Amino acid sequence: EIGSRSFHNVPALWRAGYPEPSLESHKYTRGHALVAAGSEMAGAARLASRASLRAGAGVVTVAASTEMLPIFKAALEAVIVRAMDDLDDYAHLLEDKRRNALLVGPGAGLGADTRDRVRMALGAGRPVVLDADALTSFETQPRAMHQAIAASDRPVVMTPHEGEFRRLFRQIAEGSDSKLEKARAAAALSGAVIVLKGADTVVASPDRRAAIADNGTPWLATAGSGDVLAGIVTGLLAQNMPGFEAACAAVWLHGEAGSSIGPGLISEDLPDALPGVLKRLL
Ligand code: AMP
Ligand code: MG
Repeated sequence: EIGSRSFHNVPALWRAGYPEPSLESHKYTRGHALVAAGSEMAGAARLASRASLRAGAGVVTVAASTEMLPIFKAALEAVIVRAMDDLDDYAHLLEDKRRNALLVGPGAGLGADTRDRVRMALGAGRPVVLDADALTSFETQPRAMHQAIAASDRPVVMTPHEGEFRRLFRQIAEGSDSKLEKARAAAALSGAVIVLKGADTVVASPDRRAAIADNGTPWLATAGSGDVLAGIVTGLLAQNMPGFEAACAAVWLHGEAGSSIGPGLISEDLPDALPGVLKRLL
């Protein structure tokens, strides 16, 4: 069991495996994240996409409804933007196996489409990050989500805040266990790495490894902050970090980025604070 209250120890869990490019690297060998934006909130997927790039993914594709494409094109110069108006479009995007890590959730919307995309992502043989609406849209059928996760042989990382966790793991959330044990129980039940967010964020793996990171700052309690975290995890998974290590690294980097900014922080600042944090680390 690895667990630590001290954030100073958390990089020890993953620092040695943190992906760094070599002379032979090109953008596709550095990983290609696919962010499925919905047709609702463009900001969430933009924040996540930018964070994936800052975490080192060589390429990020963001898929959004046709009417949203101009927003993404204007805001994200380096990101590939693709139309996704229905499930067939998502299936088509998944056919390119270079897109090797998938994010569903930020700005996805709460409809059946989001549930279908979650199922397709989990069936696509890639690491998957589920956040925000991808979690909440399974509120009334959490077992269906756990079954889809069980059928995947690649890492799945869920990043719920307390409210999303309660909606998806009601029985566990209502129990009297500690936050650490609740996250562990949810990881065991779902088969996913659980990132239970908050001032002390617990990362729990189905194999019972767990870590606690408390290096963030209450200034991170701002709209879009979690979308950035989900994007960082996805960027690290695209670079072949294992699920637990990617989740621990992302939480730590997100916390450090937030702490390096502090008062006045808005989520737009976070991706661009990552190079400064990484420079100290690598
Ligand atoms: P979300 O609610 O999805 O936007 O995620 C919020 C992000 O901010 C998560 O990474 C939380 O861990 C972090 N966060 C929220 N409140 C606090 C807090 N009081 N102290 C430190 N981090 C926080
Ligand atoms: Mg969120």
